[in-house]
Amino acid sequence: MLGLMQDWPLLVTRILDHAAQWHGDREIVSRSVEGPIHRTTYAELDRRARSIASAAGRELNIKRGDVIATMAWNGWRHLEVWYGLMGIGAVVHTLNPRLFADQLDYIVNHAGDQWIFTDLTFVPIFEKLQDRLAAVKGFVVMTDRAHMPAETKLRNPICYEDLIASGDTGFAWPQLDENEACGMCYTSGTTGNPKGVVYSHRSNVLHAMMAVAPDALALSSRDTVMPVVPMFHANSWSLAFSAPMVGAKLVMPGPKLDGQSLYELIDAEQVTMSAAVPTIWLMLLHHLEQNPHLKLPHLERVAIGGSACPEALMRAFVERYDTEVLHAWGMTESSPLGTFGARKGTLKHLAHEEWWRIKVKQGRPPFGVEMKITDDEGRALPHDGKAFGRLKIRGPAIAKSYFKDDGASSFDAEGWFDTGDVSTLDEHGYMAITDRSKDVIKSGGEWISSIELENAAIGCPGVAEAAAIGIAHPKWSERPLLVVVKKANAEVSREDVLAHLTGKVAKWWLPDDVVFVDEIPHTAAGKISKLTLRQMFKDFVFEAN
Ligand code: ADP
Repeated sequence: MLGLMQDWPLLVTRILDHAAQWHGDREIVSRSVEGPIHRTTYAELDRRARSIASAAGRELNIKRGDVIATMAWNGWRHLEVWYGLMGIGAVVHTLNPRLFADQLDYIVNHAGDQWIFTDLTFVPIFEKLQDRLAAVKGFVVMTDRAHMPAETKLRNPICYEDLIASGDTGFAWPQLDENEACGMCYTSGTTGNPKGVVYSHRSNVLHAMMAVAPDALALSSRDTVMPVVPMFHANSWSLAFSAPMVGAKLVMPGPKLDGQSLYELIDAEQVTMSAAVPTIWLMLLHHLEQNPHLKLPHLERVAIGGSACPEALMRAFVERYDTEVLHAWGMTESSPLGTFGARKGTLKHLAHEEWWRIKVKQGRPPFGVEMKITDDEGRALPHDGKAFGRLKIRGPAIAKSYFKDDGASSFDAEGWFDTGDVSTLDEHGYMAITDRSKDVIKSGGEWISSIELENAAIGCPGVAEAAAIGIAHPKWSERPLLVVVKKANAEVSREDVLAHLTGKVAKWWLPDDVVFVDEIPHTAAGKISKLTLRQMFKDFVFEAN
């Protein structure tokens, strides 16, 4: 017997319908690329998304199934483009501006992008690159007529505000199948070429529903949410969908992601919840340290993820600013939220420090994410917090393959996706990332977690940033080298760092050497680039060898 409930496809435009109808006057505040703060509402977002949808069809001949790229900061126009184009069945492909030209060239051509919607900031990138992007029909510059570059070499440049003015604010969304694609994002491809992850309407809506839950991001209409994590970095962790879903006020930081600019928005707009990678939060905390009179009275909680969050960073928020920290883990392939660190009812009784030992882990899966760890042969490993192995996940907002079937070996016959992360699962269900499988340091047949070394090193006074990599060793196969950036004007020596680590990690994990550098290289997603570091130190030899 079939159920007798209504067929109501899970389309992302339904989220906007809901926000516009029931939270129509709720604000979206953006720092614009042109400079001033811009204010709009969900009702206006809905009208303008319909305009851009109708104009894209009529003026640019964009059709259902077409892949259209955006390269834009978090802002109201980017939201309009997302909802408008997804609403007509086009697939919005977010481009990360921090990628190198060769990677962009590869990604745009591989995805088959037909048009590129770009912020003013990135016009120079495309002026240089466009000859290599032969299939791209033209560029929509996301600004008004007054700010359009007077002379641009861009092929077929179109002014966004002119385009939207020609559209129809009452345009009716077409009926789409919830399984149709609506978004695309490439993983940064630390090994091999970048691979395309293709989201559907259904996966995005389900993922947003997971994200708003109390043990997840706990979003409500009372929140003012500031997604610092970019829309081009794995869907801004759902916030472009989940904040409108509950009618939260949105604060979009645009191009300015430095500590002072973020603080100004948090304070002026009374942001209650925000999400970003650790590097961003380190910059905000640095700004607060420099200006001790500044506090965070409105900021109730921050979500931190994307790379391992040092305990010192979590403690700074909680203990100094009374801002709760939610550690989350995820990846482009999981839409991206996969685990959340919220406390379980059964762990209420734990003493403060006992709970902190769990709180620093990456968290536990919400409904909709299945998770296991296995050895290299695929045998499930125990949930004892000690055994570590390959982390595998399955669920309705997790990729089942990559675009054009690249990287098929990451998916097994039972639908499990191998994340490429190595982790433990404890008896309470909390997962802790030990490393990415390609970054673990293999010493004498055992594994050393580069992340644990880095986290421990970050707690050493005078250390601003630290990265551990394996260096070839004749006896042990690899031994750890710790690369450190000092805080400005700090005095810290190799011996200080080693003394700090002693007792915090197993003795045989202690780095064989510590070197100081001015800067540690980062990837386009703001993570430490182990690949570049390994290249930088490929000829490094430990003195004792
Ligand atoms: P890419 O894989 O291209 O670097 P992603 O943003 O998809 O881009 O990165 C996902 C990876 O980031 C995860 O597989 C994991 O290694 C790392 N990661 C994400 N969140 C955390 C976290 N909270 N702690 C440690 N590592 C994390």
